[in-house]
Amino acid sequence: MIPTLLLRKKLLHPFPISPTLKRSFHSTTTNLSLVVPSSSSSTPPPLSSNPLRSSDFHTEIAVIGAGVIGLSIARGLAVRGKEVVLIERNSHIAQETSSRNSQVIHAGIYYPKDSLKAKFCVRGKQLLYRYCQDRNISHSNCGKLIVATHPSQVQSDLCRLQQQAHSNGVTDVQLISKHDVQLLEPSIKCEGALYSPSSGIVDSHTFFLHLLGEAQDHGSMLAVNTKVVSAMYQQRERKKLWLQTQTNNHNNNNNNNDTIDSSSATSWMSCDMVVNAAGLWADQIARMIHSKQDTDSNNDNQSGAWQPPRQYFAKGTYFSLTRKRPDFRHLVYPVPEPGGLGIHASIDLAGQVKFGPDVEWIDTNIANVDDIEYTPNPDKADQFYHAIRQYWPELDDMTVLQADYVGIRPKLSHPSVTKQLGFDDFVIAGPNTHGIPGLVHLLGIESPGLTSSLAIAEHVVELLLLSDG
Ligand SMILES: Cc1cc2nc3c(=O)[nH]c(=O)nc-3n(C[C@H](O)[C@H](O)[C@H](O)COP(=O)(O)OP(=O)(O)OC[C@H]3O[C@@H](n4cnc5c(N)ncnc54)[C@H](O)[C@@H]3O)c2cc1C
Repeated sequence: MIPTLLLRKKLLHPFPISPTLKRSFHSTTTNLSLVVPSSSSSTPPPLSSNPLRSSDFHTEIAVIGAGVIGLSIARGLAVRGKEVVLIERNSHIAQETSSRNSQVIHAGIYYPKDSLKAKFCVRGKQLLYRYCQDRNISHSNCGKLIVATHPSQVQSDLCRLQQQAHSNGVTDVQLISKHDVQLLEPSIKCEGALYSPSSGIVDSHTFFLHLLGEAQDHGSMLAVNTKVVSAMYQQRERKKLWLQTQTNNHNNNNNNNDTIDSSSATSWMSCDMVVNAAGLWADQIARMIHSKQDTDSNNDNQSGAWQPPRQYFAKGTYFSLTRKRPDFRHLVYPVPEPGGLGIHASIDLAGQVKFGPDVEWIDTNIANVDDIEYTPNPDKADQFYHAIRQYWPELDDMTVLQADYVGIRPKLSHPSVTKQLGFDDFVIAGPNTHGIPGLVHLLGIESPGLTSSLAIAEHVVELLLLSDG
């Protein structure tokens, strides 16, 4: 069971949700119970005695994880007429990485040509703007400046980024002089900038609620407080995928003191198809399936060959300002740093500015992702102060910086493992990669995952419908 304290910690929303949204969220949540005559063993019961065999609980498609990726895919499948169960271990949707980011709609500048990140970011940006416009979801196409704080960065970094953007089809980015930057953002000090007019920001929580609402309108079910604790593939049982879930009775006693009953129930469900969109846990879930043997005695499991890549973690901390708020109208980024995009200034739809995230690598020996501390470290104020002053020298007092929140990136490399950090792409592993029909894993879905979500969903839906014949 997830310890109560840890769950409470995760339930803290870094971005405020309005009471209206909270209400609409609760009204759209179906707490489907997956509790059936239970088996607590770590493998499904033998085929002959399996209580779920005659589909006590069977679904066409299970999507593990109700972050922005799982929500987008569930919606995409549901509108194509598929029966979808969305399984989420927390008591609400999108409590993890999807709610702990900059809420920026990226243009598609940074990523190598033809990479999945480049492809899905550019396509996802178009889809996301259109989705928000069609549904009146608050967003702003405010634009972004990547600023050179040293003259050498203009030629080396900004020109390289402009070429990269152009080769990704993002042809509207322009190199602008420091004089032009002054006209756009008078308080920014720099030697020149790359201006990206198609970058923007989105009210991501309203976006998530729309995705969930549409998925549910098309018949999808959301099972919250339900954790996938084991998974396997049985080829001989009509190529079924099995998920073992543990459902916690989550009592909300209306005092906002969420508590979990000590009771929890474990059961197996069978699925024709499974999408593993479990974010920080996605590699662990993939390993459950790919390391397990078929329980059938005539084992002809094909899953041995492919090994899921391991996810490492890099924490990103944000600071907000207690006073002295700059009047930025654009997103302001430094040139990127290894592992991240640099401590940037992002604005929200209310005009509030926050700074971050930095890159703090988590020890590779961490056994449980839940052990990563989500409380932001105020001691980083000094580091943030110096980084921000490089482009916003009007910040003259470190004490106005307030540690705000933390997000965790699922990374596919780590400086202590890989000597020189290169580029890691998203990994979307479908049947062609691992050989198991109807199964898709999404790994290393760090930035620009929010921007890319609708394009990733489009791709995964095609993969599954194709494998469905
Ligand atoms: C600091 C930071 C800043 C970022 N900024 C941006 C940005 O500005 N723009 C942008 O485009 N992208 C940004 N990103 C990337 C973006 O936030 C992520 O790519 C995206 O949120 C990933 O969504 P997800 O659904 O894969 O993961 P999550 O949001 O983590 O969702 C996974 C879900 O799976 C659930 N789950 C896990 N294990 C289980 C289990 N065993 N059983 C059931 N459920 C389970 C979790 O509870 C969780 O709800 C940023 C990321 C970080 C960390």
